[in-house]
Amino acid sequence: MTGKWDVDDWITEAAATPIYRFYPTSVAKDTSLSLEETFTYLLEAVKDNRLKLYWEIRCPNLECVRSISVSPDKIISGNVTCSICGEEIKITPDIVFPIFEITPEYKARISQKKTKKNRVVFSMSRAALQRRLPFRVPCQ
Ligand SMILES: [Zn+2]
Repeated sequence: MTGKWDVDDWITEAAATPIYRFYPTSVAKDTSLSLEETFTYLLEAVKDNRLKLYWEIRCPNLECVRSISVSPDKIISGNVTCSICGEEIKITPDIVFPIFEITPEYKARISQKKTKKNRVVFSMSRAALQRRLPFRVPCQ
């Protein structure tokens, strides 16, 4: 169960940074969980609208390997032309990758919480702290 907490912590921390989209492999690497387990917990975060799942088509041309398109629908058939190297590519499951996006709603909530927490820290001066405590606060 702590695996889920680790993934949830990762999402919360990422939401407070400029990170906007990420691959499940980054989370698995940082949390030392298996990719399958990580993916399961990330999908739970999709269910409660902290994340959105997208599918990225990556150019299989080894000299290119760029992201060609990102869509909420998993398209695994048809052809696509890479706008970077110009190659026409047949879409197969091995060039389609899951990518997660932190929802703007969740990002806003986390940054708001962060600001509030800072305000509390700043409003508590040493003198204010001393008034609340029955013993002398040592000087730093
Ligand atoms: Zn390409």
